[in-house]
Amino acid sequence: MTDQPNQLTRREKTAKIRHLLETEGETVHETVTPFNEGRYRRYAEMDDLEEYRAEARRIQKDAIDRLPELIEQVRDTVTENGGSVYLAEDAADARRHVTEIAESKGAERVVKAKSMTTEEIELNDALEAADLDVWETDLAEFVLQIAEEEPSHIASPAIHKSREEIAALFNAHFDLDEPLQTPEELTSFAREYLLDRITTADIGVSGANFIAADTGTLALITNEGNARKCLVTPDTHVAVAGVEKLIPTIADLPPFLNLIGPAGAGQDITAYVSLFRPPVDSPVADFSEPNEPAFDVGNSDRSFHLVLVDNGRMAMREDEALRETLYCIRCGACANSCANFQQVGGHAFGGETYSGGIATGWEAGVHGEESAAEFNDLCTGCSRCVDACPVNIDIPWINTVVRDRINHGADTSAFDHLVDGLTPDDEPTGIDRSKRLFGNFETLAKWGSRTAPLSNTIADVSVLRSALDRVAGVERERELPRFQRETFRAWFEARDAVEPSDTVREAVLYPDVYTNHVQVDRGKAAVRVLEALDVDVTVPDVPSSGRAPLSQGMIDTASSHARGVHAALAPDIGDGRDVVVIEPSDLAMFQGEYERLLPGDAHEPLAENSYELLEYVFGLLENGAETSALCGPDDRIAARGDIGTEIAYHSHCQQRTLGLEGHTVAVLERAGYDVVTSDVECCGMAGSFGYKSEYYDLSMAVGDVLREQFTEPETEDRTVVASGTSCLDQLDSLLERPSRHPIQVLDPGR
Ligand code: SF4
Repeated sequence: MTDQPNQLTRREKTAKIRHLLETEGETVHETVTPFNEGRYRRYAEMDDLEEYRAEARRIQKDAIDRLPELIEQVRDTVTENGGSVYLAEDAADARRHVTEIAESKGAERVVKAKSMTTEEIELNDALEAADLDVWETDLAEFVLQIAEEEPSHIASPAIHKSREEIAALFNAHFDLDEPLQTPEELTSFAREYLLDRITTADIGVSGANFIAADTGTLALITNEGNARKCLVTPDTHVAVAGVEKLIPTIADLPPFLNLIGPAGAGQDITAYVSLFRPPVDSPVADFSEPNEPAFDVGNSDRSFHLVLVDNGRMAMREDEALRETLYCIRCGACANSCANFQQVGGHAFGGETYSGGIATGWEAGVHGEESAAEFNDLCTGCSRCVDACPVNIDIPWINTVVRDRINHGADTSAFDHLVDGLTPDDEPTGIDRSKRLFGNFETLAKWGSRTAPLSNTIADVSVLRSALDRVAGVERERELPRFQRETFRAWFEARDAVEPSDTVREAVLYPDVYTNHVQVDRGKAAVRVLEALDVDVTVPDVPSSGRAPLSQGMIDTASSHARGVHAALAPDIGDGRDVVVIEPSDLAMFQGEYERLLPGDAHEPLAENSYELLEYVFGLLENGAETSALCGPDDRIAARGDIGTEIAYHSHCQQRTLGLEGHTVAVLERAGYDVVTSDVECCGMAGSFGYKSEYYDLSMAVGDVLREQFTEPETEDRTVVASGTSCLDQLDSLLERPSRHPIQVLDPGR
């Protein structure tokens, strides 16, 4: 493995993931599950959801476009309000400035509201080094301070800690009369303990969810009451915020208020929305004189210091790929929605400060690519997070670009002899051998078919599997694809052409690399079904979509594939043929990533004329094709086939993101099958991800949820059907019964 300097080795990464699966995974999963359920519910209830998302994105884009101007504007408004503004160039500059404020005040104690930006700049360490007594007052941050641990979630920092663990921590750490147990006891203790610190603090430090440049108003959106206490109880308030928190006006706030609660935790709205225009007018309470009036009305001499942190953000703004990261409102939905994050949490799926899907962008921007490289591969590009993100950030694309940059920064002295000849790509030498091998799967598949069945026999030799594991990180427990000697295209070319009696459509059936070389039967079934529905089918010679190299961060190679596919299919599309795609991840390429991989508008014809196979069949049925042309349960029974009448169906993550899951279910039900659908969003295989030795345990842990669903009494005897190649591979590993593509169930020619 070609590792980045100071990066974990494959073996170390495997051990770390295994450890976190065992120690933190269950709690993370239990905690994010209701967040996700709540988000789905709230998003479905919100009639104006897409308008809010579009408006929020527009405001963020505008704010980042105008950032230098907004910084100057907020400098003026905050100064007019009586505060000060400091633009910190980097973390050290920010730390130094805040420490100087504390020293100039002669402060002894600092209380803090939750702020990931202060985590990023490691403010606590600096303040403590200056002999200040620093207390986190957000409950989760307080727990982590006592535990001396790092946050594991961008919005819920102690998401990996169960109530039992927190109770054990408090009982061991504090000198208590009675052990604490219940959530009420724990929170009540923390509230009293921290209230004492807040009332004796000299400085309150906060972050800010948003800062309105026109008024200098800070918006704090929280679920605990600690932040507002921290800011108004001491006479000095320091707000530390990334420059991207600026929005042009206070009137821009409503879309964010409407989105952040539903997106983050499925709430209608967060418990507290506090708007301050500091320094606030209220007098400072004197808690040391309990017999005096509660407020010393004469002492309202407050000070406010806004510390805007650059720390790489202005450079991110100039970076085409990282710029969108600055639109992030840090709700945590991308982490919650991610199947891998759900199993291991942010201590594996995160860098120095940030965790979850968008963390790659943040880490690459503020700490550098090395920090992002540590966990970037945990993003499998399923794109569910894009649907979850309230500002529609294309998180997988950011992750892909950073992965590509990490690849290009790899040690070019590494020797790729093992994969020589299998890597006709456009990438530099030195790239991780595992990535290079998986990114060139098409070449491997061609060789596999040409030499089958020998290639399959060789692949079973344990010595070779050990070598593959050692050198290229291919997990030896995972069954390798079985290459077919006769490819799908060869079968199609060799057979007697079938002329539909009454052609209704003409279609190109896209021969993806897996269908062409491995799952040839599903290609044959697809041809038979389409022809039974009076479609004139062709199967041309087209390169693979580029999904494999793209998933490895090999963008130049993926672009080259995209250009090849475009060139091969453009004439057919020009002639009015539809493009029918079996593999959902390829369709996602055609309708999504090709926009970034092809020049200008070249992607549009393919995006507009390509269809997922069952979506296409559904369309044919809707337009008059006879359902009786498909193989239904009665035909199965008559033929005593091995496919039952009851089906357990698992969709594909990208198929869901494209909104196409329902077509498959509808077609199967129209054909007479009884269908139960898994509500598991990811099978855990995710293309090559499940083949990689360091991620194998995680892949199986994600898949285990699906295994449980398909081995329950209601589903254990049903025929297993799945749309994606990866899903089929994973289901074959998870279950003792075989799985099939839905088109094979409907195949009239079986
Ligand atoms: S990228 Fe989107 S989903 Fe993720 S934390 Fe930021 S705003 Fe939330």
